[in-house]
Amino acid sequence: MDVQRKLEILADAAKYDASCASSGTEMRDSSDGKGLGSTAPGMGICHSYAPDGRCISLLKVLLTNACNYDCLYCVNRTSSNVPRARFTIDEIVKLTIDFYRRNYIEGLFLSSGIIRNADYTMEQVVNVARSLREEHHFRGYIHLKTIPEADDALITEAGKYADRLSINIEVPEEDSLARLAPEKDVRAIRRTMGRLRLKLDEAKEAQKKAQVSKAKPPRFAPAGQSTQMIVGADVASDQTILATSANLYGAYRLKRVYYSAFSPIPDSSRALPLSAPPLMREHRLYQADWLMRFYGFDVDEIVEGAGMLPLDIDPKLAWALRHRDRFPLDVATASREELLRVPGFGTKAVDRIIATRRVTSIRAADLSRLHIPKQKALPFIVLSDHRPSPHLLDAQNLAQRFKPKAAQLGFGF
Ligand code: SF4
Repeated sequence: MDVQRKLEILADAAKYDASCASSGTEMRDSSDGKGLGSTAPGMGICHSYAPDGRCISLLKVLLTNACNYDCLYCVNRTSSNVPRARFTIDEIVKLTIDFYRRNYIEGLFLSSGIIRNADYTMEQVVNVARSLREEHHFRGYIHLKTIPEADDALITEAGKYADRLSINIEVPEEDSLARLAPEKDVRAIRRTMGRLRLKLDEAKEAQKKAQVSKAKPPRFAPAGQSTQMIVGADVASDQTILATSANLYGAYRLKRVYYSAFSPIPDSSRALPLSAPPLMREHRLYQADWLMRFYGFDVDEIVEGAGMLPLDIDPKLAWALRHRDRFPLDVATASREELLRVPGFGTKAVDRIIATRRVTSIRAADLSRLHIPKQKALPFIVLSDHRPSPHLLDAQNLAQRFKPKAAQLGFGF
């Protein structure tokens, strides 16, 4: 099989993994004429690669899709009837370098089906990264998928070469994982996340000491660890999913939890749903995740009742509509924590408000300059020239006002 055909198969096989985004890594460049490639903060989030060579920033491939495991939700499971392929280490290295030079990509996301066993697979994945970094002096972004049961020494080595490591938690509940992915062990997944966290903490500590001693600190995945949860492959509610995320962020200091809406696969098991969940559900989970990480919300505040997020309005607006007694909020005197709960107020907007109100009072006309969507925020705030009428704060009125028309409920909403 030629490399192009392998690429078609293995890039397609990798597309279901959402856990890659090139953010939060350290600065590395090759402007000194040594090495190849560079990473810079905020250089973009790049999730996939098209086999025809169109630029989509990360070359996102599997080493092989011939997997020994039989996870029911996965198109690469051993019982799946799909064409199989396997790259050699040299083939992936060459592809990465070639695409980088042609400006198609800024880095590599590499995962793999399980070949022989966890250690052998991890060793192959690490060998790709080692070759790129040590033989080709590649300084672009590398994200490696970590095999939970792999030997500690291999994980340490992976962290030496990769910017980010990730282990997929897959589904939020242990019994669902046992049913859908019988070879996977949630304790091994969490144990390895714990090992990664320790190594990340040690690397951070070593870096602090190195600033004093000027010694070169050992490197370990500067962009941290992330994970992915599949949404809608089991009956887990949004509340369960978000509670699992909150636990993962707290216990293992994950940089990101990615949510991937389950997509039905050919010849799938009867244990799986026949249709995909609405993509809007995935979108709402991302919004709720941001509320937990940057806006001071707890899971139980975001999701109430049946444990599902509303699909028609965003979770922050839904919370504000349930807590109208807290509004309208006086922008001149409210605390930062209170301001963060106003629909339409982002974290940067809140910082701008706080800076502005120190020197002048804020008027309705100032909202656009502060990058705040006026229509969304005005019913919830008091400004020097604005106070919403009680009629505007009426739940029914507000809900109707913000609900999108039926046609807007597609993915683009
Ligand atoms: S281990 Fe499971 S999820 Fe990963 S490639 Fe194999 S079958 Fe798919």
